[in-house]
Amino acid sequence: MQGHYDHIFKILLIGDAGVGKSSILLRFTDDAFEEHLASTIGVDFKVKTVHMRGKTLKLTIWDTAGQERFRTLTSSYYRGCHGIILVFDVNDRPSFEHLRTWLDEFELYATSAAAAKLLVGNKVDLDAREVTVEEAQAFARQQATMYIETSAKTRSGILQAFDEIVQKVLDTPELLAD
Ligand code: GDP
Repeated sequence: MQGHYDHIFKILLIGDAGVGKSSILLRFTDDAFEEHLASTIGVDFKVKTVHMRGKTLKLTIWDTAGQERFRTLTSSYYRGCHGIILVFDVNDRPSFEHLRTWLDEFELYATSAAAAKLLVGNKVDLDAREVTVEEAQAFARQQATMYIETSAKTRSGILQAFDEIVQKVLDTPELLAD
């Protein structure tokens, strides 16, 4: 079923509407950016093949298709996921404060407690920061995860973020079992 892939990973992008989840995905898969990206309609996930540690990995990276506007996502979104990228906008404090709620929902629905996590602060190209690096790092430490700052606009940090989450999944034997 896996074809020529060593593993297929399901990676989720989670966070408030407007923080840049679709833009991060578009930058990673198509190396593109749109200033006025239409709110996510219809795109459920994108696929990208990566090579790491001598393995060929198929990443299916899931976008919320705008469902998060209702402040909740369906359980099928979380099912079988290997890694979650929690995204907030460093210029939008409420999006940082809501992360706890997104994590609670994830923990309620996730089928694997071992799923890898990564915290991403996006839109660092803008000059209106409301969340400091230190407080984001402190929250990441509480979640035993790493914090990476990104800009989907300038491309800064995007590859590093996906590299980090995939490494973390590869480092978790429980996630490689099936
Ligand atoms: P989503 O609702 O979380 O998927 O957010 P979108 O990807 O739709 O982005 C919302 C808006 O923020 C769009 O107008 C994007 O062009 C813009 N945006 C996303 N990422 C960045 C970024 O890194 N820098 C800047 N300046 N704008 C961004």
